Amino acid sequence: MIDTHSHLDDKQFDGDREEAILRAFAGGVEKIINVGADLDGSIRSVGLAGENGNIFAAVGLHPHEFNVGNRQPAAEIQEQVGKLRDLARNRKVVAIGEIGLDYFSHSGGGITEAQKKNQQTGFIAQLELARELDLPVIIHCRASKDDHTDAYEDVYGIINAARYTLHNMRAAFHCYGGSLEFTKKILSEGNIFFSFTGNITYAKTGSESIEVLKAIPLERMMLETDCPYLAPVPHRGERNEPAYVAYVKEKIAEIKGISVQEVDRITTGNAESFFKFKQDA
Ligand SMILES: [Zn+2]
Ligand SMILES: [Zn+2]
Repeated sequence: MIDTHSHLDDKQFDGDREEAILRAFAGGVEKIINVGADLDGSIRSVGLAGENGNIFAAVGLHPHEFNVGNRQPAAEIQEQVGKLRDLARNRKVVAIGEIGLDYFSHSGGGITEAQKKNQQTGFIAQLELARELDLPVIIHCRASKDDHTDAYEDVYGIINAARYTLHNMRAAFHCYGGSLEFTKKILSEGNIFFSFTGNITYAKTGSESIEVLKAIPLERMMLETDCPYLAPVPHRGERNEPAYVAYVKEKIAEIKGISVQEVDRITTGNAESFFKFKQDA
């Protein structure tokens, strides 16, 4: 198993980070990708990867980073993204992420059109960085409350346009929550992957999320925890950790009606070819 998306640098791990890492490796996790969501988190991700041979890093600026104030000048956004460039050259960095669009507003006030524009500018600038460094991207995407699919359509529009300029681009939607209709539309894009967290263990039989999981072939899936968030059943509500990626694997095996070994083998192979990990010399 590979946990392709964790935030072990989160302060919730300050008391037992080493132990959580050891529990994961003892429980059959082979590799962990620690994902940055802002500049400091990206620096910490590269640091963690430097300390542990089987931990790798992704560096990126989450769409929330571009919500500060309206009409953020494009030059300022470019400058923010530029700060990732040196970090991203580290040999343990396997992706640019998490980057994308998030139109969901926790305050209920909604995301303004200007904020959407800023998010898009930041996303495109980071896609360009991925192209420059020949790295895949980990996409964070969340639609607004009243539209099931708006952010997904915009992400797809952007990466589809970027396809003409991005060299051999690989993109993974993390914590995938797109609609069945959207999923069917983008499945024909062979270099788009989908990764799933513990929240699939909350899904009810017959729900759209189960239908989405059935529609996506195992060959396009990867496993993740997004820890410390989204702990799977039977740990729902607790702090999540990389060892719990096993529950995500079990749920996929149950939905697909295949063995956990098969899910392990195929999703691990997918992650290996998607991220192209370089082992330390
Ligand atoms: Zn995310
Ligand atoms: Zn995340």
